[in-house]
Amino acid sequence: MAFNPDVKRKIVRDRKTDKHLPCVMCGATYPLPDAVHIIDEKEWKAKLGCDRQANGIPLCPNCHRIFDEVLRPYLYRALHQFGTSGLPMSWTKNNKLTVTEQNLGLEEEGTA
Ligand SMILES: [Zn+2]
Repeated sequence: MAFNPDVKRKIVRDRKTDKHLPCVMCGATYPLPDAVHIIDEKEWKAKLGCDRQANGIPLCPNCHRIFDEVLRPYLYRALHQFGTSGLPMSWTKNNKLTVTEQNLGLEEEGTA
């Protein structure tokens, strides 16, 4: 699901100039950047009720895919091993089908 239009506008547009913000990962400017949920919408709303700007980042389509499929599982693994609690369950695995945990080397590990 997408952000509601008011929240999306706050995420992808510069407040002063009203121009689209560049992708926060690669810096590319895109005609229509994606407003990407940091924590999956369903999980966020279950805990906090409604969409908020704080849960969104402007990303280009390429970085959107990398964030969802690659970065979140890596962050989850590192933060979990560091002892962080309350991490979003939606970060445990990529949420798309094009990459598997085995492709990423994130399968259960004993000593790494
Ligand atoms: Zn990008």
